[in-house]
Amino acid sequence: MRVVEDAVNRRNPGIKGRRKGERMENLEVLFLGSGSPWVLVASRTLADAGLQVEMASKDDDFLSTLESRKPGLLLVDADSSAGEGFDACKAARQSPAGENIPVLLVTEHQNTEKAFAAGATDVVISPPDPAILIHRSQALLAAGRAFQEVKKSRESLEQLAYFDRLTALPNRAMFRELLAHELARGQRSQAPVAALLLDIDRFKEINETRGYQLGDQLLEMVAARLLQSLRKTDYVARSADGNSAPVARQGGDEFALLLTDLAHIDDAGRVAQRILQSLVQPFVLGGEEIFVTASVGIAVAPNDGSDVDSLLQSAETAMYCAKRQGGNNFQFYAESMNEAMIKRLDLEANLRRSVERDQLVLFYQPLIDISKRQLVGMEALLRWMHHDLGMVSPGEFIPVAEETGLIVPIGRWVLRTASRQLHHWHDEGFEWLRMAVNVANRQLREPGFVTDVQEILEETGLDPSRLELEVTESSVMKNDSETLEALQELRKLGVRLAVDDFGTGHSVLTYLRDFPLNTLKIDRSFINGVATDGKDAAITSAVIAMAHRLDLRVVAEGVETEDQLSFLTRHDCDECQGFLFSRPVPAAEIAEILADEIRSRRSRQSGKSQLKAG
Ligand code: C2E
Ligand code: MG
Ligand code: MG
Repeated sequence: MRVVEDAVNRRNPGIKGRRKGERMENLEVLFLGSGSPWVLVASRTLADAGLQVEMASKDDDFLSTLESRKPGLLLVDADSSAGEGFDACKAARQSPAGENIPVLLVTEHQNTEKAFAAGATDVVISPPDPAILIHRSQALLAAGRAFQEVKKSRESLEQLAYFDRLTALPNRAMFRELLAHELARGQRSQAPVAALLLDIDRFKEINETRGYQLGDQLLEMVAARLLQSLRKTDYVARSADGNSAPVARQGGDEFALLLTDLAHIDDAGRVAQRILQSLVQPFVLGGEEIFVTASVGIAVAPNDGSDVDSLLQSAETAMYCAKRQGGNNFQFYAESMNEAMIKRLDLEANLRRSVERDQLVLFYQPLIDISKRQLVGMEALLRWMHHDLGMVSPGEFIPVAEETGLIVPIGRWVLRTASRQLHHWHDEGFEWLRMAVNVANRQLREPGFVTDVQEILEETGLDPSRLELEVTESSVMKNDSETLEALQELRKLGVRLAVDDFGTGHSVLTYLRDFPLNTLKIDRSFINGVATDGKDAAITSAVIAMAHRLDLRVVAEGVETEDQLSFLTRHDCDECQGFLFSRPVPAAEIAEILADEIRSRRSRQSGKSQLKAG
């Protein structure tokens, strides 16, 4: 006991040793009690024994004192004011600040049991004998301190066992535990869980050429970037409790990530892509810029493994596959995703950059007036010239652009470019030309769309009636008020409206009545069979007749043969477009088509005058 006391005295000079007004951070004894006559004497006795004591009463907010002063012992006079001391003891025990503090209760003999039930660590019979009170207080203080030390060392052991010392990220062991937990949860909730393994490309080289110290610094910086890139971003990188997805260091230059509650498997690819993106900026180390890339392997449970080992094994296989591809990419473990999905993600990433990189171009396909056999307009069709993928067809990338919202800026570019081109052709003397531009549903529902169209019309000085916007049948089929409103506004501007791909949307014909349309474009799939398939022929002729009754112009899409054209001529179809006349071509080639058109118009004109003269 001597040893303990010495230690206590050495560490704490007690009340006597302190200057007035000075508050020690950690208090030794918080003494709760006011009622009993022995309290004042006891507090002085304790102070004289070198203990630092502070008085509190139940009326004070003693729980917050408990929290702020963090005493080593709570001494309670339990008999004060009608047993309030017992309640205070209970309350202290239930508070986070008080659950681990030893409590010494002073009470009458018959209340001993009640005292322990209230959570007391030890009991002294009141009125307390001063020597016993000092002795018990000091013993409990020492025990409490020992408990805290054990707790602290257990925590630091845990820190050592579960966290990486260099980056302070969870380590491999912790990651495995988290993963096991999430796999079990995922099994219950049926939600996919993905493990990502990331390995820095050519890290060995960096380590060897620039030294291990710099290598370590780089790893720390990479860890920080990973955390940052996951934190500031969307829901996919968040775990169910709203925290960031856990990132762990697996050892060496390998990191691991756990993604839970994925809505789609390809969300894991999006995260991987974003991580790779986060590494693009060089790391500045020792005044030098270091460029780092990484390879990421993704495995999704339960397809690629339903337990920790097999899932990590699959992620590793995928990671090595990414390495073999030259690094700086991610790979799904082959079974979890087909190639199309990966290609699609790739497409999305590339598409984002397509506008700024000037990779988009418009092709134009002539629209022919059937009865006059005259060129009357063009349809603008978007093309994406990708330096690796070559020409990507709109069928492939428009849906991706719609899903991601990229169609909004892209569509605006299309509309502006096509309008300028048309204005240019008008200036060159082809003022009768019309331009059809495709508009996605997503664009129509965008609040600023009508204003965009208006601005573009003003900017180019184009006659609005020369512009025809083609909306898909599925856009108008939804029959929602936003779309209807947008279409009405557009009509007020004077632009024309067409329904594209008519017949492909399991048509609900009511929209033909409700929407302010000018033109109906019969889908290629019907035109294809008009000359050979009785049903296609019947549908097409009926659609033409119906459209005319509704005062709509009819355009046939995808006319490839003379037979198809003669069918359409017989059934009074107004216009057509298709490979029979021309494929969609760049603007430069349209110049030749326009020159031909002028020649044939002139010869027709002179033919007519000759006839008249004759
Ligand atoms: P669409 O608006 O129905 O365009 C007609 C499509 O049919 C074009 O395909 C055209 O090349 C093709 N085509 C024309 N004549 C023939 C023919 O005789 N035979 C065959 N087999 N095909 C013919 P493309 O250019 O691949 O465009 C596909 C679709 O992508 C378009 O269908 C349109 O829905 C969409 N699209 C194209 N450009 C844009 C755009 O700028 N914005 C939006 N939102 N969608 C666009
Ligand atoms: Mg179209
Ligand atoms: Mg079409």
